Amino acid sequence: MTISIFDLLRVGIGPSSSHTVGPMRAARRFVTEQLASPEALARTESVQVDLYGSLSATGRGHATFTAVLLGLEGWDPETILPEQVDSRLAAMEASGRIQLAAQSAAAPHEQQDDAGAQEAGKEIPLRVEDFIQRPLTVMDRHTNAMTLTALDAGGEQVAKEIYYSIGGGFVLSESDAVASDASLGEALATPDAEVPYPFTTAAVLMEHCARSGLPVSRVMLANERALHLARHGGTAEEADAEITRKVLHLWQVMEECKNSALEREGHLPGGLKVRRRAPDWHARMWKDDPGRTHAYWQEWVNLVALAVNEENASGGRVVTAPTNGAAGIIPAVGFYATHYGPGASYCGEEEREDIAVRFLLTAAAVGVLYKEQASISGAEVGCQGEVGSASSMAAAGLCEVLGGTANQVENAAEIAMEHNLGLTCDPIAGLVQVPCIERNAMAATKAVNAARMALMGDGDHRVSLDEVIVTMRETGKDMSSKYKETALGGLAVNVVEC
Ligand code: SF4
Repeated sequence: MTISIFDLLRVGIGPSSSHTVGPMRAARRFVTEQLASPEALARTESVQVDLYGSLSATGRGHATFTAVLLGLEGWDPETILPEQVDSRLAAMEASGRIQLAAQSAAAPHEQQDDAGAQEAGKEIPLRVEDFIQRPLTVMDRHTNAMTLTALDAGGEQVAKEIYYSIGGGFVLSESDAVASDASLGEALATPDAEVPYPFTTAAVLMEHCARSGLPVSRVMLANERALHLARHGGTAEEADAEITRKVLHLWQVMEECKNSALEREGHLPGGLKVRRRAPDWHARMWKDDPGRTHAYWQEWVNLVALAVNEENASGGRVVTAPTNGAAGIIPAVGFYATHYGPGASYCGEEEREDIAVRFLLTAAAVGVLYKEQASISGAEVGCQGEVGSASSMAAAGLCEVLGGTANQVENAAEIAMEHNLGLTCDPIAGLVQVPCIERNAMAATKAVNAARMALMGDGDHRVSLDEVIVTMRETGKDMSSKYKETALGGLAVNVVEC
């Protein structure tokens, strides 16, 4: 399969792509596929949820349990609104019941209100004993595993499936893996349309750029066009227009996410008493730098990263880029690209959108390399896979829009990851707040520096991007599980929660 930009960058809800978005998708998939027949749904009187490894260890702080409940009702993380999350969870708590599969038959834009949902689904009790936590059991295929079992009134099994949340909101079932007779990576690689520039390594991507004379973003666009035409037909112009529209939609959601955070005061949820800083910083920045001068670029980049991650930590709407925990880096560096890039200070909306599209396409091309050769899952390789990958993607995108050659783009991506190697995942209380929020700001400014350093050279460099990606994967393998989204090591155990 060719991984698309729309696989890597997707709209979801916070705070975690692997622990919130993935489990919600898995539960929705369970009711949609396993309980699709009216008979199976009618027989089901309860659903047992077994959470394993990291999903169990940090499930509470990452809102995994509530995400599963919403998924069992059939809600889609891509379309559910934050206010719908709040209202459904309040209704579940008040009634002690959930509306199993109530939303699953509805097209996303048709998701129903509470009254309509009650008629469509099957009401079952919400019981604490149906959630079984197994933090010390790590499944062979992936640490983020969950089993969903539908049971009838007599406790007999109606349906059962194992799901793996493999990072960035990607979900695979045991059946997917068995059908492909192999690893989860291979299970993901289902046959798809042929693309003009297939690549899984940076070396091959660079070869395509050299032979075609195209920048990385155009190579990525050509592949997206082929995927679009194979799935939807039409002309190349129509395909390009639709791809551009969808990429700009992602950009728009990133903007809205940042803007929403700037309106919210107070503390983040979860009990850590972390104060939201984005609104205050924003007010101060407009005072200190009303003209958006280049001297303040770092403060603005920090602010955007902080804002997006505060929104994510509040369960708000974000773009997984490539994960929720690292969702602030690409928007923050994109802000730099569209405000401080060549001509950005006087360019119009159309030019700014063109910069955003090229920036995101290039970033996604590098994201493909991490997904193909390593992992973007903190539970698998630590934070280097989340924040490190996002920093590398952002550096590549920025380098291209600042006029870098393909080799300089590869160099920028390599520099950014090289200095994120070994980054552990140790969120305090299992919440995606400390160190995650500031870490996004640090990684965003690192990405800007990586792009600038690459632009000072000619693209020739000692360590290749592929070598760094493989090193990240191997470092992740060697890393103790304490530092892989279990909240059992690092800051998570050395700082008193509150
Ligand atoms: S420390 Fe990094 S990998 Fe872990 S939850 Fe935070 S952002 Fe995600």
